Order: sequence, then C-alpha cells, then structure tokens
Amino acid sequence: MGGPLGVAVRVRFAPSPTGFLHLGGLRTALYNYLFAKQHQGRFILRVEDTDQNRVVPGAAEGIEGMLEWAGIPPDESPRQGGPVGPYQQSQRLSLYRKATDMLLEKGAAYRCFCTPQRLELLRKEALRSQQTPRYDNRCRHLSTRQVAEKVSQGAEHVVRFCLEEGSEPFCDLIYGWSRHEVASVEGDPVILKSDGFPTYHLANVVDDHLMGISHVLRGAEWLVSTSKHLLLYKAFGWDPPRFGHLPLLLNKDGSKLSKRQGHVFVEQFAQDGCLPEALLDLITDCGSGFAEKRMGRTLKELTAEFDVGRVERHSALLDLEKLPEFNRIHLAQQIGEEKQRRVLVAEVQALVEQVYGDRLEDSGVAEKGYVEQVLLLRKGHISRLKDLVMPKYAFLWIRPSVPREELQTVSAQAEEIGRLVLGLLERQAAAWTAEELGRDLRQLQEQIKGTQYSSMMKLLRLALSGQQQGPSVAEMMVSLGPREAGTRIQRALCS
Ligand code: GLU
Repeated sequence: MGGPLGVAVRVRFAPSPTGFLHLGGLRTALYNYLFAKQHQGRFILRVEDTDQNRVVPGAAEGIEGMLEWAGIPPDESPRQGGPVGPYQQSQRLSLYRKATDMLLEKGAAYRCFCTPQRLELLRKEALRSQQTPRYDNRCRHLSTRQVAEKVSQGAEHVVRFCLEEGSEPFCDLIYGWSRHEVASVEGDPVILKSDGFPTYHLANVVDDHLMGISHVLRGAEWLVSTSKHLLLYKAFGWDPPRFGHLPLLLNKDGSKLSKRQGHVFVEQFAQDGCLPEALLDLITDCGSGFAEKRMGRTLKELTAEFDVGRVERHSALLDLEKLPEFNRIHLAQQIGEEKQRRVLVAEVQALVEQVYGDRLEDSGVAEKGYVEQVLLLRKGHISRLKDLVMPKYAFLWIRPSVPREELQTVSAQAEEIGRLVLGLLERQAAAWTAEELGRDLRQLQEQIKGTQYSSMMKLLRLALSGQQQGPSVAEMMVSLGPREAGTRIQRALCS
C-alpha cells in the first residue's frame, strides 16, 4: 500500500504516561493525526512507559480517552490493538532484549559493569574541572574473557551503545539539514538498564522500526537526539523514518506552558465544556502549518489544509484568551448544522436535567423543539452549552408561577398589558432583536394609561421569570422566543 508520498504513511504519538495530556501533547498528536489522515495513513498511539518510576497509574488510559474526546482517536493503540502490538513499551521487553543482543553480536554494543559509585565519582570530577559529565567508555575495552567472567559471577550490568564518530546529516521536515556529532560530546549511552528495561533511545528506534513508522513528528526537544537515533538505525542496518520536529508551544508572552497553571490539561478544558474542535483550532492557530490564518476551521478543514512544510521553526505562541471566541464560532457553526444540532440538543437536555431537574415541574421547557429553538436563538451569543444553564439563563428552564394577586399589585392593568403584549408577540418573527423589541414595548406602553414603564417591565419580568431582577425584558423575550414568552404571559396575566 503506497500513499501519495510513495510509502504507506504511518505516524505515531508516543507520550510517556506521567500525567494528564497537556496542550503541547495534544498539538503533537493532532499534527500526527492530520498528517496521517491527509495521506490516507495510520495514526498510532504508543505508550512509552519504560521509566517505571515516573509512570502514573491511569495516565495512559486518560491520554487515550482525551484523544477520543478531541475527535482524533488513534487507529492502533493499547485500547484499539492493531497488527504490530503490544502498544505499550513495558509489554515489549523481549523485543528490546532481542534487539540489544543483535547489537552485542555485531559489536555495536557492550556490557558495562561500572557501579553507580564509580559513575558518580566521574560526574563529580567532571564538574570539579568544569566539564560536562560523560561516561568514559571504560567497559568498551573489556576483553571477551573479562566480560564472560563477570557475567558468570552474576555481576549486575547495563548495556551501552558504542557511539561512533561520523554522524551523517539528515534533512528534518521542519528544521532542514541538521547534524549533531554526538560521539564528541557524550559518552556511550545506556540502551538497556540492569532491570531489563530499555532506555528511551533504544525503545524508540526499535519500535519505530518494528511498527513500520514512516514519519516521526515529535517535539523539537528531540532534535538533538536524532543523530544518535540515526547511528542506532545504522548499527541495526535499518532504514530510518523521516523526521519532523515540532517547535514548542508556549504561552502568549513566551513563557513555558506551566503545568501548574491548571489550564494546560485537556481534561480541564473538556470539563469546562470547551468544544473539542474549538480547542484543536486554537492550538493550530499559532501561525504554524497553514497557508492562511483563519478562525473556525473544522477538523475536516484542518486535515485538508495542514501542510507540514509550513510549520515554522520558531515557537508557537498560544493565546488562551481567544478560547471563548473560538468556542463561540465553532458552537454557532455546529448549531447551524442540523445533524450536529441534534447532538447539541441532547447535550443541553442532559445539562438542564442535571442542573434544574428537581425544579422542572413543566416538562415543556426541556422538550426537543423548545431546546432547539433556544439554541437557534442563542446562536452566536454563547460560547459554551454550559452557559445556557448558568443562573443568568435560569429563566429559560424554569417556568414561573407567580400568584395573580402579586401581579395585580404591580399594575392594576395587568390583564390589559398581557393582552397587548401577546398581540405584539404574535406579530413578531423569530428573527427579532432585543433593540427592536425594546422599542416596540415602549410604544406599547404609551397606549396604556395609568401604568408607568417601569411597572410594566416589572410586571412582565415577573410573568416571564418570576424574578424581580435579571436580563432586560426584551432580551428575555428574544431568548425565550415568541412562543414560550407568549405562553408565559398568557398563563400569568390573561387566563
Ligand atoms: N516519550 C517521548 C516523549 O514523551 C516521545 C518522544 C518521541 O516522540 O520520540 O516526549
């Protein structure tokens, strides 16, 4: 199977399950997803849990759940399974062992018996002479006999990769030509730890190879490690994938997205009622990867318009203050589409039930038709569905029952006002604005003798919401729509 690039595109998102998925991770996953989908490829989730000390129970499931919430589920993953699993590195230890044996046989790796004490001493000495600590490759020079002897004595050891001079340049999809002469700055890196777990560098290369990964799109912090990975590919005799390193996602002011701020975890946005598409649109709006800057791209449009060659090298700045606006635009788009609107109606019904369930004596206000009307009327005015169940909009869901006598005390002409307003409502089209309606109400008041404007408003507000305070009467009527507003006026003032 060959995509338009001539190879089957297989990309992966490879998080370490050390906590919640944050926005930077979501962006990396999204770019991988977009790249896969636009090339008819596969998007793979691989959980890199080889550093067992840092693994947080439940984090891997949480990350996959958030990708699903965001609408970018992996095609292959721990949950989905797939042809090249397992998709969790801790379950692939035998594969890393086999790969390590291969390198040992080729003489490209060696067993290292240096004790933690010796390594610590090396480190301290280096620091004292103001040098960067690095392993001195001592065990590289042990004879076969020495090694066999130590192994037979059961000496604890790790396996290190022989870093050779002569790193070859590679062309990164985003950063262009790049090369790091790792052997001149680093000691031979550990690839297999004494507990049989691989280090990131080995596991990553072995898995990308065994999983048939064609393109590695990952955070720019790994750019400097890529030369090391390429040396590993060379030692194995494997063809490496193409690499593209994605610049960091930073706050608008250039500071690091702090995990302590709370508002960097995808879970948080989901709980706050953020629309997944709005979040995806926002994190790609930082001027990277697209020909033009535009708000309101759907996932389908993001997929069609993303161009990895347009990802810029400078860090992407995230402006979270724009999120409500992104949400508003996406919500309006979804309300405007019948199929999506149906889903939203069900969501609002569930929210209303949850918040006002015990106070909904009259089921009419939670019916599909009414909720749909509310959505259409509020389209463009709200940024989250949740806004509709805030106290400000409680009147939408709670039909008041105010005793007739109380209304009479506000205005003796309650019934006459009711009839006139009903007439006005019957003449109104659904596309009213609060200003127009406000003007009409003023004119109407001039026809009534003996009632002041303020009393009339108080009366109508009570009839519509049972409250003395709240949004303007015209605004309430516009939100309720002429039918529901009419029903309330009729019940309170005219029957
Ligand atoms: N586990 C690494 C991380 O979380 C993955 C790096 C890579 O994609 O190669 O950053």
